Amino acid sequence: MPLDEYRRKRDFSKTPEPAGDKRAGSKRKRSPSAPPAFCVQKHLASHLHYDLRLEHDGVLLSWAVPKGPSLNPDDRRMAVRTEDHPRDYGGFEGVIPEGYGAGIVMLWDRGTWTPEVDDVDAALAKGDLKFSLDGYKLKGSWALVRIRDRSDTAPAQRGRNWLLIKHADFWSGPIDIAEFAPRSVVSDGDFDDILATDMPELWVTGRPATAAGRGSAARLTQQVIESAARKILARNEAVEPEPAGRKPRPRSRRKP
Ligand code: MN
Repeated sequence: MPLDEYRRKRDFSKTPEPAGDKRAGSKRKRSPSAPPAFCVQKHLASHLHYDLRLEHDGVLLSWAVPKGPSLNPDDRRMAVRTEDHPRDYGGFEGVIPEGYGAGIVMLWDRGTWTPEVDDVDAALAKGDLKFSLDGYKLKGSWALVRIRDRSDTAPAQRGRNWLLIKHADFWSGPIDIAEFAPRSVVSDGDFDDILATDMPELWVTGRPATAAGRGSAARLTQQVIESAARKILARNEAVEPEPAGRKPRPRSRRKP
């Protein structure tokens, strides 16, 4: 059952993440001609990382990429295979207030992908998946290559370490895409905007409240709140405080 691990790690009474259809994993309601979807979710959890997800056989194959994708073919970005996610996870952006993955999820890129191999399952088994992406930020040809386990690789991590590599093509180059295009592909917001939208109670006079003693705010992990707050305070330094309870102005109208 492809989504067992996904569901085992989460309490859906406490997380806004989609539980996924019980039949997920079956090939259903899908036009055979529609190319499969991919997305990259920028996930501010205990550590910032980027989750690359490729739709295949009714689920999203998933890799956590700590440094994010690079358009530079010389970069080999560590990509740790994680549990398959339900297909509708590809539309998720929001705050996970507690539990597994607690933090803020931003939909950083999305689009479709095309395998450059005849048999995706065989390529995964072999540990060498070549594919192309057609997203807003990521395009062109890529490879995921599994790293051979070292003798000291922990049992739970065995077979999970891959490298994400951009092939040299029209879409490769020295630009730092994570730096150049850091915001949400759906809302154009940053983490603080997502936080303010999902949890307006965290906002006091245009600034983030601290988690301590603030009702639902306390449900967020201290670490994530502090991390988000640091970013927000740095961004808002030049901005006057706003009336209590208001969410901050959109970035476009803020001072740089
Ligand atoms: Mn993640």
